[in-house]
Amino acid sequence: MLRPLLEGALDLLAPPRCAACDATLDAGAAGFCDACAPLLDPDPTGLGALIYGGPVADAVRRFKYGPRPELARPLGARLAQAALAHAGQVDAVVPVPLHPRRLAARGFNQASLLARPVARALGVPLSFALRRLRHTPSQASLEVTRRLDNVRGAFRARPAGGRVLLIDDVRTTGATLAECASALAAAGAREVRPLVLARAEG
Ligand SMILES: [Zn+2]
Repeated sequence: MLRPLLEGALDLLAPPRCAACDATLDAGAAGFCDACAPLLDPDPTGLGALIYGGPVADAVRRFKYGPRPELARPLGARLAQAALAHAGQVDAVVPVPLHPRRLAARGFNQASLLARPVARALGVPLSFALRRLRHTPSQASLEVTRRLDNVRGAFRARPAGGRVLLIDDVRTTGATLAECASALAAAGAREVRPLVLARAEG
């Protein structure tokens, strides 16, 4: 009984670590160590904060499957920085939802954790307006051509605002984001801007 509590307390006192490789960080370092930080690739399209790969792929994997939900802090800070390009131009921030069954298994929705600091940075509400109706196989497990079919009709939305910033952790084909955007449009959003932490190229 005591052990988990004690470990939790030690985690709070532990120095921050690199999101990608777990190296101890100097005070004030922004989420990644001196070896990993130069390998980060900002996404020039603005769809992602970073290009997926290398330390970013490691960080996302550790964050979701570690599971290391506390990595939402440095990763969310990166995303919030990228989101400032949308300042004053969106009315709400909406995370891509997990199906309740997957949420229960993982214990947290990575997109929700990332969306929170984004909403705070933009000064707009965080809205859980999207619902995932079907428990679909993980997109990562599917061939690219099957991903659109996998998520078609998988989401419903309630009204969130006229202009929505839609948040997810990783974009590969964009199929999930496109389905979410059409559900939000059906619920009255007139503009949906997707933004992800990491965009996979090609
Ligand atoms: Zn590192």
